[in-house]
Amino acid sequence: GGIAAGIAHELRNPFTTVRGFLQLMQENIDKESAELFRTLLIPEIDRANTIISDFLKISRSAHTNREKIEVDLFVNQHLLKILSNESFLYHATINHIISKEASQCIIEINKDEIIQVFINLFRNAVEAIEQKKLRIDWRADRIEDWLAITFKDNGSGIEPAILSEVFDPFFTTKSDGTGLGLSISKTIIDNHGGRMEVASSQLGTVFTIMLPIMNKVDVGRT
Ligand code: ADP
Ligand code: MG
Repeated sequence: GGIAAGIAHELRNPFTTVRGFLQLMQENIDKESAELFRTLLIPEIDRANTIISDFLKISRSAHTNREKIEVDLFVNQHLLKILSNESFLYHATINHIISKEASQCIIEINKDEIIQVFINLFRNAVEAIEQKKLRIDWRADRIEDWLAITFKDNGSGIEPAILSEVFDPFFTTKSDGTGLGLSISKTIIDNHGGRMEVASSQLGTVFTIMLPIMNKVDVGRT
């Protein structure tokens, strides 16, 4: 993992150089080549850079910047603000229910990473909607010592035959996908001591995320 992350990081410099020169050369070449640079070569380099950035996100973050936070505070002050912006942008509706027991729990999380997980799920939901209006049903419940969050969309669903592969790195059914969104998300949840699962039908897809809840005793001890 460490070596792979090192290589990924080192790949950025040559890419940046090539990208910079392509951009410069665009001005002094014939129209057709300039068009090729603009529509294919530079975007391809940008795509490679996105893959590298996403990969580095997975490998870096194991135990950084965790904090203990009440679910209610995290959801209302952080997560829903961002998801509401996303919904606004994509004309989606988000319906959220958070049980009283869930809202009072304490979880120990890296906020940015957990937000990233839900942004990834949201983007996939947007991409799974064909003509309809996207509707997300988001809910959080306490199940014993777990916070169980479900994220359900009304998209086209995932074929049963590929359901077991969606968390694999680089697995994608999209012509412009990286196949990293769900694998990063699952890694983030695993790193938090949690679990992430998927179920799907023609009516839509539901992701379930379980995060361990901290005991009051543990919270007091810090
Ligand atoms: P990408 O979005 O780049 O394809 P992801 O890891 O985010 O990569 O998703 C992997 C694949 O899982 C997608 O290509 C798609 O086939 C499937 N998928 C993920 N989320 C959904 C969803 N909400 N509805 C339908 N299919 C989905
Ligand atoms: Mg995705």
